[in-house]
Amino acid sequence: MVLTYSIFFSLFGLVFGSFFNVVGLRVPKKESIAYPPSHCTNCDRRLTAIDLVPVFSYLFLKGKCRTCSSSIHWVYPLMEAITGILFVASYLVFGFTPELIVAILFVSLLVIITVSDIAYMLIPDKVLLPFAVVLLGLRFVIPLEPWWNSLLGAVIGFSLLFLIAIVSKGGMGGGDIKLFFVIGLVLGLSGTLMTLFFASFIGAIVGIIQLRVTKKGRKSPIPFGPSIAAAAIIVYFWGEGILTWYMNFLG
Ligand SMILES: [Zn+2]
Repeated sequence: MVLTYSIFFSLFGLVFGSFFNVVGLRVPKKESIAYPPSHCTNCDRRLTAIDLVPVFSYLFLKGKCRTCSSSIHWVYPLMEAITGILFVASYLVFGFTPELIVAILFVSLLVIITVSDIAYMLIPDKVLLPFAVVLLGLRFVIPLEPWWNSLLGAVIGFSLLFLIAIVSKGGMGGGDIKLFFVIGLVLGLSGTLMTLFFASFIGAIVGIIQLRVTKKGRKSPIPFGPSIAAAAIIVYFWGEGILTWYMNFLG
């Protein structure tokens, strides 16, 4: 049964991942997510079913448009695959508990903002705000232990990032600050602090790789959103285990 549900959640995730790409790319440009229908951004040909199967179309078409042969960015199938994996992971970690609803919403938000941040260096309010409102409401029905832990995490997360933004003079975007409010709601205080720690670590590694690969100057900005998203997911799924291991390691 676990296998059947895992397959179901991965398919569900692949399809939603494809939709999240559209949301992440169109919302910051103030475009409708329904119209125009998916089309090749190079030759404008409207995509049909064969072009739109998540991940598989990309592999089958070898990453190129069928009409104009312009290449399709690898970020699309990657985000579809990641969404599929995260939906299955949510199910495997939480099972059919109320927290599964929070998990699916949380990973969905993180995928969308990752797409936006990679494409435009922007985490759109139009995406953050609805998720923040829904997750805030859900935390009263599906609370952390103790119930105010999520509010504390949200306020501290927001304030800490705000302080870092002031000290670093623009090294941190407004979107990153607001994202940490939502992360606080979901993860509570200790999870939020762990996320900040891991995000800085991942961000530093990404920065070093970027510097080596592109040989651009240190000034070229790197979106921090994807590092925050990766850190938040690690903490959400495995944070308790990591914390236990660390405490044992110390003591
Ligand atoms: Zn084309």
